[in-house]
Amino acid sequence: GNALDRALDLITEIPDFPEPGVLFRDLTPLFGDPSGFAQVIDALGEAVGDGVERLAAVEARGFVLAAALGYARGLGVALVRKPGKLPNVAGRVDYDLEYGTATLELPIGSVRPGERVAVVDDVLATGGTVAATTELLRTAGAEVTGVAVVLELTGLAGRARLGAVPVHALRSV
Ligand code: 5GP
Repeated sequence: GNALDRALDLITEIPDFPEPGVLFRDLTPLFGDPSGFAQVIDALGEAVGDGVERLAAVEARGFVLAAALGYARGLGVALVRKPGKLPNVAGRVDYDLEYGTATLELPIGSVRPGERVAVVDDVLATGGTVAATTELLRTAGAEVTGVAVVLELTGLAGRARLGAVPVHALRSV
């Protein structure tokens, strides 16, 4: 709707961050706008759909989105961490980023075997982050039902990297 469009219009573009030639999408004004944030959380809830038993999110902006959505929907959140933060690592995945490489870790006890889990994040770029998250969740025995993101950068073809997992983006650019 129009209110969601206005909320998504709060996202700004920062040239040459974090490297020359990269156009960074900054969600800071959206996170800081109470009605815009609420619009985005409600829309992510619709994107996630019914039949989901848990959310999963990647540190750090994904945590903010998944926490609000988890509260609204009565769902717990599996917190996927950057390396070195966890005393109890169930799984670890190394992957390539648009700029550089990264590692993600899943805490022991994050998901139950067979649990239906939806992944929530702010931006889908190359898809490496969500693909790594999906791999961690599946290795832990979860069923990944879908991915919901605020913004999809279509030029980086992240969706293609995610195979059969349904991807819902509130806006694709
Ligand atoms: P990917 O792994 O899909 O290439 O990158 C997605 C991850 O990097 C997301 O967790 C997201 O937070 C971050 N990211 C990549 N590009 C951008 C961007 O332009 N803006 C923001 N806010 N995050 C980005």
